[in-house]
Amino acid sequence: MKRLAILGSTGSIGTSTLDVVEGYPDRFQIVALAAGANLDRLEGQVRRFAPRLVSVGSEAGARELRRRLGRVPTEVVWGTAGLLQAAADADADLVVSAIVGAGGLLPTMRAVAAGKDVALANKESLVMAGHLLTAEARVRGTRVLPVDSEHSAIFQCLAGNGMGGVRRIVLTASGGPFRTRSRSAMASITPEEALKHPNWSMGQKITIDSATLMNKGLEVIEAHWLFGLPVDRVDVIIHPQSIIHSLVEYVDGSVLAQLGVPDMRVPIQYALTYPERQPNMVPRLSLEQLTGLTFEAVDREKFPCLDLAYEAAVAGGSSAAVLNAANEVAVQRFLNRRIGF
Ligand code: NAD
Ligand code: MG
Repeated sequence: MKRLAILGSTGSIGTSTLDVVEGYPDRFQIVALAAGANLDRLEGQVRRFAPRLVSVGSEAGARELRRRLGRVPTEVVWGTAGLLQAAADADADLVVSAIVGAGGLLPTMRAVAAGKDVALANKESLVMAGHLLTAEARVRGTRVLPVDSEHSAIFQCLAGNGMGGVRRIVLTASGGPFRTRSRSAMASITPEEALKHPNWSMGQKITIDSATLMNKGLEVIEAHWLFGLPVDRVDVIIHPQSIIHSLVEYVDGSVLAQLGVPDMRVPIQYALTYPERQPNMVPRLSLEQLTGLTFEAVDREKFPCLDLAYEAAVAGGSSAAVLNAANEVAVQRFLNRRIGF
């Protein structure tokens, strides 16, 4: 029985993780949940999965949740202290880090410092402080298992092969909703349009990041820290169908790819069951029904965020943390209609 703490349980990744967990009642047990302000969903999760501990964003939220839970014995905590308590819960074997943005860094760091294996969705923590997180994981002997679909794909393509034989990693990108939009029409994009991703249903922040391709930039830096390759050996290619989730090219010219339907439950499940694989109810990939797998280069002038990320990675130090912070503020302002696309 693997005992899990899920940070960000009410979000897109959090709820998909609980979907996976629900399929294996004798394999996984939920010991702690943490989320922000969605009390309705969190209350349902606590009633369904009966964790020993739950953390919410605010003190008022904690009081309200405690009242709603009545005789349910779950301990309710709140704020940063509560979140860190959930991240280091003595009963947890694996912590799923699925809070969005910079707020994910402290609890992820705390989980690793407490010796937990981490299933990492919160790429921002690696972008901001990859050197600290990976060093801590090395010292503690814990694993940081990728949940991001591209990084899970690479992780799977690397299995059984030493990094010494790797020539480069190729991250695939769908290109988002504006792949074919003319450069001159980019400025007038609205939040509603940008929130419509063609292939994936995700939280708001990463959906905007996917529209600007900043998400791919963050993923280049994430790949650098996860797999220890310099960013000039991490490439990006547009693959609109999102069937090939990423590729590894080896020095002998062999290229390994991982394919599947675009469904986050697959990489989440692999991180939870690693190194095992388990059957599931996710729709199968039907090769006969694929109309084609196509690739194109990124238009780097139309999507300048990608090169900003490469530049930040090369500059090193705190540059990527600055990039991440600037991006989070810009995304929020765009969603609030204070700035254009
Ligand atoms: P989301 O907005 O749907 O969910 C975020 C979760 O974090 C919610 O449960 C929210 O309550 C919680 N949260 C936010 N701030 C918090 C705080 N300060 N304290 C406690 N809880 C807080 O986001 P998401 O789409 O699930 O993305 C989560 C992370 O996973 C992001 O880093 C994203 O880049 C990454 N990721 C997501 C996907 C996806 O398909 N959604 C794919 C790959 C990677
Ligand atoms: Mg991704």
